[in-house]
Amino acid sequence: MARIKHVAVIGAGVMGAAIAGHLANAGIRTLLLDIVPRELNDKEQAKGLTLEDKAVRNRLAQTGKDRLLKEKPAPLFHKSIVERIEVGNLEDDLDRLGKVDWVIEAVVENLKIKQDLFSRIESIWKPGMIVSSNTSGISINDMVEGCSTEFRSHFLGTHFFNPPRYMKLLELIPTKDTDHAIVDEMKAFAEDRLGKGVVLAKDTPNFIANRIGVYGLAVTFQKMLDEKLAPDEVDTVTGRAMGRPKSATFRTLDLVGLDTFIHVYNNVRENVKDEEEKKTFEVPALLQEMVDNGWYGAKSGQGFFKKV
Ligand code: NAD
Repeated sequence: MARIKHVAVIGAGVMGAAIAGHLANAGIRTLLLDIVPRELNDKEQAKGLTLEDKAVRNRLAQTGKDRLLKEKPAPLFHKSIVERIEVGNLEDDLDRLGKVDWVIEAVVENLKIKQDLFSRIESIWKPGMIVSSNTSGISINDMVEGCSTEFRSHFLGTHFFNPPRYMKLLELIPTKDTDHAIVDEMKAFAEDRLGKGVVLAKDTPNFIANRIGVYGLAVTFQKMLDEKLAPDEVDTVTGRAMGRPKSATFRTLDLVGLDTFIHVYNNVRENVKDEEEKKTFEVPALLQEMVDNGWYGAKSGQGFFKKV
């Protein structure tokens, strides 16, 4: 367990940045990487920067890190902790992954993108380095089916819940080739250093907690549409009234990200065998329309609720 001292998180979105914050808070050296932006934003143009400038190339990772200090009503991490997170990008800094003990993938919920990323990581992988995915429910085995058995022996799913700073649950999902010693090491590290309650899950669609939770969210969403209820009304009765947090249903969806939730719907629908269950995971037209209009939830400032 003392072995994990240096961790890289890939993907500086809702989860990646927050996982990086949680690791830094536990005193672990943390590197946060994202892709290189394809175009300049207004501020960069005004400063005369180009796509070759480091500030532009690292912008997505830096933005994810900065977001940790803008959380409302209060940042989840102190500035001194967030400052310790190093940032970079996947084009210039892939080699830096060779120096870390654990790489956590937290990029967009898309099998092909994850597969491509793991084959790039395998090119710099060295024995001993643990690699994991934070997927909400894509098959862990499918993600690395093109990788070597040695690489797969060090690979597993490490499913953190949102926000990782406060959600105690961590699901560990081994592949059919994952070394038992790696699972044991990760379990001990997650419990002792990250304060997590670890549950071992099989590689079934959405694993355990999301298989139940997402089903509940999907059914509640459909009920809201059928019965023409307002999101706020639903949150009122499914939240504190039931002993759950205020962010019960639709505030939870805003927190998760509506685009990510669509990926989850699609993943379950494509992978469950039961025809009735498949129907539950047809993406509601309203949800698709919101995402098509750029309403991604809290991360874009507008979802079912407006983030001010
Ligand atoms: P997000 O949309 O907030 O962030 C995704 C990140 O992936 C972005 O920073 C984006 O720049 C990056 N990205 C996009 N294309 C890429 C590519 N080709 N290569 C590398 N990076 C790329 O998503 P998120 O909510 O942080 O989710 C990340 C992962 O964590 C997903 O697998 C998701 O299912 C899972 N997850 C999400 C939640 C949640 O509540 N949002 C909870 C648990 C697990």
